[in-house]
Amino acid sequence: MADSSDHGNRQRRRVLILGGGFAGIGAARKLKDADVDVVLVDRNDFHTFQPLLYQVATDLLDLSAVGHPLRDLFHDQPNVAVHQATVTGIDPDAREVQFEEMTPIGYDHLVLGLGAQVNFFGVKGAAEHAFPLYTLADAARLKEHILRKWEAADRDPALIADGALNIVIVGGGPTGVESAGALAELYHSNFADDYRGIPQDAAHLTLVEAGPVLFSMFKPDIRAYTGKALAKRDVDVLLGEIVASVEPTRVRLRSGTSLPAHTLVWGAGLQANAIVQSLGVELQKGRRVGVDPDLRVPEHPEIFAVGDAAWITDSETGDVLPQLGSVALQAGEQAGENIARLLAGRQTSPFRYHDKGTMATIGRASAVIQLRRGKTIKGKAASLAWGAVHLALLSTGEDRAKAVVDWTWAGFTHERSARITVPTSPTAEEPAAGKQPLARR
Ligand SMILES: Cc1cc2nc3c(=O)[nH]c(=O)nc-3n(C[C@H](O)[C@H](O)[C@H](O)COP(=O)(O)OP(=O)(O)OC[C@H]3O[C@@H](n4cnc5c(N)ncnc54)[C@H](O)[C@@H]3O)c2cc1C
Repeated sequence: MADSSDHGNRQRRRVLILGGGFAGIGAARKLKDADVDVVLVDRNDFHTFQPLLYQVATDLLDLSAVGHPLRDLFHDQPNVAVHQATVTGIDPDAREVQFEEMTPIGYDHLVLGLGAQVNFFGVKGAAEHAFPLYTLADAARLKEHILRKWEAADRDPALIADGALNIVIVGGGPTGVESAGALAELYHSNFADDYRGIPQDAAHLTLVEAGPVLFSMFKPDIRAYTGKALAKRDVDVLLGEIVASVEPTRVRLRSGTSLPAHTLVWGAGLQANAIVQSLGVELQKGRRVGVDPDLRVPEHPEIFAVGDAAWITDSETGDVLPQLGSVALQAGEQAGENIARLLAGRQTSPFRYHDKGTMATIGRASAVIQLRRGKTIKGKAASLAWGAVHLALLSTGEDRAKAVVDWTWAGFTHERSARITVPTSPTAEEPAAGKQPLARR
């Protein structure tokens, strides 16, 4: 359906949605009954449920529980067309978007929901050797890397002393803490049984945070609980330490410490998608696009920016809203609703965020929640609430069912059935006669 010169000729007006994340899906769904063509474009043919990526990386969930086919989400919405293509630029004056794989598409209204991307802050070697956890491919890559390291150490125990099984996790926010807790449980329960010849204390998990505390966005009682929960799982926490460089088998800190580790998980920073720069407007901190209360970009009122790519101010508190799935979904829905209003000749309305609390999970039956008015919940009760809120965010009933089955099974049995690596090329499984499979780092 790609077209390049269609502004005057189209029968119906067109809303172009960039990104099939929480924000893009929320916007498309709210346009279900609007008299408009909706075109949603994403570089992937699936929606990624980022909050559960660490569960893919630690073998608790399968890829398909966290990535859902985008086309499947709009079977009941005939006015939506989905394309898999990579956005390369936006021309707000021509009201058109360029793609790598297809001709430009014009729009009457644009919803920019391209999310964020990893920020390595220029740390030497990070782009080459670190493992970020932002896409499904990142999670699958990390999972396979860890499994291969354990198999290699099983074959050659000398690798253990070189740090083959050690993991350094960078960032004391939710991504870093959640990953550290989940990795610790994978190591101490499943791997302890899988690799009985490798001593339990041979592998070290270290969480490195540049600031003086973990979870700086939470109240002190939650921070204290988190510190204890990580200590119980044998995660070493280094505060006030900054990663200076990442090498294939070493992580060097600015303090001079060198940590032997063949794996570094990067949970330290994000910035809005680089495509936002093509809007030609002044950007806010983290490259995010500033928007009016109704989520429109002031310089281009036909463009709505939502989700992680946007700098959205809470209309009640005046605070800038965090880059969260619930903010993205609700803002996307509001953008869709506002476009439907404009198409019907009505006024837009301002975005109001319904905050269900800030939450994170550290491990089985160990989560934390801070509600809007400051009340905190910790432990098993918080874990159940975390599950309920995240199940509600999953895009379909089928995904919810899959997640419930996997979580319940893992809860009872401590099993992680996704603990396998699958060769993706025929030669990796059956090397041709006389050929050895490629060595991996
Ligand atoms: C590890 C992790 C854990 C998290 N945990 C939580 C949590 O517990 N609770 C919570 O509320 N939030 C959590 N978040 C944050 C939450 O996932 C994000 O805030 C949310 O996904 C943002 O939604 P979005 O639609 O703005 O962006 P995204 O979900 O990132 O969607 C952007 C979409 O744009 C597509 N895209 C990007 N670039 C291009 C391009 N050039 N061309 C075409 N398509 C493109 C991407 O493929 C993607 O589908 C977590 C995030 C991470 C990374």
